Amino acid sequence: MTISTEAVEMAAKVEAFVREQIIPYESDPRRDHHGAPTDELVQEMRELARAAGVLTPHIKADGSHRTQRETAIILIKSGLSPFGMLACNTNAPDEGNMYLIGHVGSPDLKRRFLDQLVEGRSRSAFLMTEPADLQGAGADPSMMITTCRKDGNHWVVNGKKCFITGAEGAKVGIVMAKSEDADSLGGACMFLVDLPDPAIRITHVPNTIDNSMPGSHAEIDIVDLRIPADQMLGNAGEGFKYAQIRLSPARLSHCMRWLGGCIRSQEIATDYVNRRMAFGKQLIDHEGVGFMLAENMIDIKQCELMIDWCAGVLDTGSLGTVESSMTKVAVSEALMRIADKCVQVMGGTGVTDKTIVERMFREARAFRIYDGPTEVHKWSLAKKIKRDWKHANA
Ligand SMILES: Cc1cc2nc3c(=O)[nH]c(=O)nc-3n(C[C@H](O)[C@H](O)[C@H](O)COP(=O)(O)OP(=O)(O)OC[C@H]3O[C@@H](n4cnc5c(N)ncnc54)[C@H](O)[C@@H]3O)c2cc1C
Repeated sequence: MTISTEAVEMAAKVEAFVREQIIPYESDPRRDHHGAPTDELVQEMRELARAAGVLTPHIKADGSHRTQRETAIILIKSGLSPFGMLACNTNAPDEGNMYLIGHVGSPDLKRRFLDQLVEGRSRSAFLMTEPADLQGAGADPSMMITTCRKDGNHWVVNGKKCFITGAEGAKVGIVMAKSEDADSLGGACMFLVDLPDPAIRITHVPNTIDNSMPGSHAEIDIVDLRIPADQMLGNAGEGFKYAQIRLSPARLSHCMRWLGGCIRSQEIATDYVNRRMAFGKQLIDHEGVGFMLAENMIDIKQCELMIDWCAGVLDTGSLGTVESSMTKVAVSEALMRIADKCVQVMGGTGVTDKTIVERMFREARAFRIYDGPTEVHKWSLAKKIKRDWKHANA
């Protein structure tokens, strides 16, 4: 699928907006306890994005989603600043949640829950992961211990969740639970809920290595949450299938946004090593330094190519499970290398919060775990290799 001229122009508009209007906000002191911009600051930046015509740029005026290849060139630009993705409303988890509701939600659910997200008026949370000490859903989502059972025209949900990004302050929640109902026994269900809700209690918000996502990553108790049956997303028992619909594009869009952050980190590091002198010459002229940035240049290009390839596969209508696993591993590991080298060549300045370089290093580290840890993707790829071998040798 080709990329339209209009999408190329939108990417350029997003880049100009982020560079000219949003990067200056990186030093704004308005932060939540997690270090992310406050909701007030996000709304202020979104007003600017609205005025510049770059709010929610991955969704077209008629409500349809752009192709993944078009989304890629735009989201990379919105990621040039960790604040850029928040300003443009392309950030996680909202972007992935919008995609899921847009693909699975009924017209009524879209009106109630999706419109406010597309318009950038509120935030959302995706409640899937559960505490490791209770042997809940983690790398293996089938271990889900949160349950739902039918009670008349309602479903009743009980369980515990953790690492729920943005739960604090979110207005929309997508809750995942395993069914105890005879018709869908053992399958997962997804529900859309208004937040906050007294039956969904945030018990703790831990400090984490990353700090770009408002509301951080909450631990939650769900006690006798009653949800009207018509707030189920899709069909009972098909929740794991819908999780896959969300996960492939969502992990790809993380690749897009954080690649933008690493491209900018490389620009900052490049500027530093060209200005800074050591041992009688510019740092860039020391081979050890120049090689690090050269390796980054190669990694960045490889990330762009992998993202574009995987986006092209998703654009054919394929779930792209294998391709998105390969891309997520390749890109997240490359971003870690890029961010680490940017920190290194900048010396002490690299570990300070004077630039976004140290923040990108921390974000890249966390990204190697969420949306499937590297080892889990490699493990599922190894299973495919074995399957294919068995098939070929049957
Ligand atoms: C910053 C951040 C944001 C998050 N946001 C959300 C969110 O909004 N909503 C949500 O539901 N969840 C969220 N998560 C949770 C995330 O999806 C899980 O952390 C992830 O799936 C891993 O689960 P776990 O932490 O329970 O690790 P575990 O399941 O305990 O796994 C630990 C480690 O074991 C290894 N491992 C596991 N299985 C295998 C295997 N088959 N082969 C080899 N190695 C393996 C991996 O190295 C893995 O990292 C977030 C996590 C983070 C860090």
